[in-house]
Amino acid sequence: MPPTYENYVDGAWTGSSTGETFAVRNPADTDEVVARFQASGRADLDAAVEAAVDAQAEWANTPGPERGAVLKRAGEVLERRRDEATETLVREEGKTRSEAGGEVGRAIDIFHYYAEKARELGGIEKAASGPNTDLSTKREPLGTVGLITPWNYPIAIPAWKLAPALATGNTVVHKPASAAPNVSRIIYECLAEAGLPDGVANMVTGSGSEIGAPLADHEAVDAVSFTGSTAVGTAVAQSAADDLKRVQCEMGGKNPTVVMPSADVDEATEIVGVGAFGTTGQSCTACSRAIVHEDVYDEFLESIVAYAEDLTVADGFEDPDMGPHVSESELESTLEYVAVGKEDGATLETGGSELTGEGYDDGHFVEPTVFSGVTSDMRIAQEEIFGPVLSVMKVSSFEEAVAVANDVDYGLSASVVTQDLSEAHEFVDAVEAGVVKVNEKTTGVELHVPFGGYKDSSTNTYREQGDAGIDFFTATKTVYLN
Ligand code: NAP
Repeated sequence: MPPTYENYVDGAWTGSSTGETFAVRNPADTDEVVARFQASGRADLDAAVEAAVDAQAEWANTPGPERGAVLKRAGEVLERRRDEATETLVREEGKTRSEAGGEVGRAIDIFHYYAEKARELGGIEKAASGPNTDLSTKREPLGTVGLITPWNYPIAIPAWKLAPALATGNTVVHKPASAAPNVSRIIYECLAEAGLPDGVANMVTGSGSEIGAPLADHEAVDAVSFTGSTAVGTAVAQSAADDLKRVQCEMGGKNPTVVMPSADVDEATEIVGVGAFGTTGQSCTACSRAIVHEDVYDEFLESIVAYAEDLTVADGFEDPDMGPHVSESELESTLEYVAVGKEDGATLETGGSELTGEGYDDGHFVEPTVFSGVTSDMRIAQEEIFGPVLSVMKVSSFEEAVAVANDVDYGLSASVVTQDLSEAHEFVDAVEAGVVKVNEKTTGVELHVPFGGYKDSSTNTYREQGDAGIDFFTATKTVYLN
């Protein structure tokens, strides 16, 4: 029998008021129910918000180093449970063992990083003023914050919101994604064991409409940090803005890698291939467009097709190059985009089909897919696919490459492969993206630097990670002491 997990509210594991649960299945073998979670309702959300509001003043008044000590202990508990968390992540989300291990490691590092940050907070910055006047600024927590997270990094993203929120003295109500709440649940067990006071962090599972939307709209919630699709994020931002909540939404991407004639084609292939097919293409920063100069187009295309065909696809526990899609609906969406690409006149070079039969059980497996001859007016060049589908596009100049790279509504991550330093600088200046890389894949950003997008990839208010995470979760108060 799969376990049934409860919400974490006011320091206790609690069943939902609806009495209903939903199943989380293994995407590599959908016959396997991994666990059941609470299909919570409004009363459960209200109870969590009330607990968080009640706990806030005391937590805010807890000295920063003490708050940091709790985060440090939580990181240590997660370190002890690293293997279990990694296996949980593979089993519920379909990541490969290596990818899942990397993500859990990132979550541990995040807790340690913000544990240190908590020591530096609350200090007073002096500013120049008149005689006998002390002019300074101080940071204060926002209050109670709502966190809404996606399934594609179900432990790292909750960690990079939770840790700075708690380090700065806020209390939290978190709604994890319904496709992968199990590894999020482990974080709350770690925080509880680390001695986090009751009510400071609360987790409520349930659907986006029953829990996510009312959380964003909740009158007792002071700020909302959301990561997910642009469609849902836009609605969250609008609803939070209605009562002037601070809101941060990090959303979708359509990330390009430009390949210039000076590039080493093998290196470019690796950069594009890892960016496009890593995590089954289910990263917001996944490379979905290779924009290739005509001088190296044919050579690159041959090389990237061979790369895709060489990838192993299997259950994440076998640690292949690529695991399954997280769900049936994500698999269907990818297959639909393959059909759309063909209809729009792109050439399917390899892949494009679901993988079935021996070794694939009832999993959501799909072939790594490469289209060539893609032009900017095609839907597969414009819309986020969120699967292992790469569009290869031909351009005849650097200027055209930049124009094509920018010719989408999104602006999350972008990279260029070139040996020409001035070209690299020009690309950094001209490309519309929150993360720009030279001779690196579009995916992956270290935890101590700001992360976020331009254009429709973000609300562009605050960045996440590093000091930017602290900025979002604090208000600045200016103090004159005469
Ligand atoms: P999603 O469908 O937008 O869901 C994200 C979260 O919002 C989930 O917890 C979801 O709950 C909840 N939700 C759904 N409807 C809601 C509503 N009406 N109001 C409030 N919350 C609601 O996104 P996803 O499929 O989980 O994740 C994939 C997307 O996330 C991609 O677009 C990807 O690019 C983006 N992403 C962006 C970043 C970044 O930092 N820029 C990072 C990772 C992922 P349920 O799960 O219960 O539906």
